Amino acid sequence: MNLKSVLIVLTALIFQHGCISSTENGGLKEERYYSVEDFKSVKKFDTHIHINTDENTFIKLAQEDNFQFLDIVDDRPFGLPMAEQQQFALLHLKNFPSQMEVATTFSVKGFNEKGWAENTIKDLKLSLSKGARAVKIWKNIGMDLRDENGKFVMLDDPRLAPIFEFLVQNGIPLIGHNGEPRDCWLPLDKMTFSKSYYGSHPEYHMYLHPEYPSYEDHIQARDKLLEKYPDLKFVGAHLGSLEWSLVELAKRLDRFPNMHVDLSRMTNLQLHTLNDRQKTRDFFIKYQDKLVYGTDKAINPSADPAALSKNIHDAWLRDWIFFVTEDKISLPGFGDLNGLKLPRDVIDKIYYKNAKDWLSANNKSSQSRLSGN
Ligand SMILES: [Zn+2]
Repeated sequence: MNLKSVLIVLTALIFQHGCISSTENGGLKEERYYSVEDFKSVKKFDTHIHINTDENTFIKLAQEDNFQFLDIVDDRPFGLPMAEQQQFALLHLKNFPSQMEVATTFSVKGFNEKGWAENTIKDLKLSLSKGARAVKIWKNIGMDLRDENGKFVMLDDPRLAPIFEFLVQNGIPLIGHNGEPRDCWLPLDKMTFSKSYYGSHPEYHMYLHPEYPSYEDHIQARDKLLEKYPDLKFVGAHLGSLEWSLVELAKRLDRFPNMHVDLSRMTNLQLHTLNDRQKTRDFFIKYQDKLVYGTDKAINPSADPAALSKNIHDAWLRDWIFFVTEDKISLPGFGDLNGLKLPRDVIDKIYYKNAKDWLSANNKSSQSRLSGN
């Protein structure tokens, strides 16, 4: 065999089995990839789920599809009240302890009264002692809650500081849904993905409410919070509300060592891929330790169980195809793109390991400390 044919055979082998990349110690290693068929056999974790029912259909599906998940309780003014969300979450946790984790939250009722922070910490301790592993803070901070002078309370408000100090001291992760997608502050015809939502919910369309904090106000308040608490384990929900720019997101991930983001803005990620697949793929590889998979699926009692299972299973499988293969995917209204085909090691981190790490580190010891209180 001459040199040329050796090269042809080598090239063919690389294309068939993956590519060869250099490792940290300078050696060569062969990248390995998952396929569509691996979907069920690989352990996965969905970090953004809202269960609003005592029904188990979703949990059965998660078991079948090899997903563990984080059930997140929110302080929202609509839908199932916070206390009931938490009741369901703890009930499921009791029945399926190896399948799931719970993120609790806190109410801002009485925020302007004396003792609010102490009482809130007391409530959080109770929820954590019952098994919650993380705390969620929602967009009502910055978009709804006002102080006694009618001013919006932002995330970096000193009156919230005791809560964050409590979380830092006990190693409890905070999941922050702060602000909204940037679309929310744009006119309908300039929006990327949210036209139908804000078109039918003008009350949440911030472009129409210039007296409310701006998009930049929200991002800045969140950045200030992370600057003040570098040890706070923080997970920015929905790509940290920086879904429109991987460059802006990367700046924060570089600046805040304990910041992660969940990936529950899949259409934005696909649009980035459509615009520049290489750049998007490089982003995933560079920040593989900072990204956690999540879908923000809500499980509501009104849904037909079979339809709900199919909807979630299909979404999970679609995302898997996007991340692990280079198959063609269509993004309606924009065009076709090819999946990112991320290496196995990266998939294992964003789909499982990173979430398990931030939900478990420090938490065991803090839970025993908390229950001793
Ligand atoms: Zn959510």
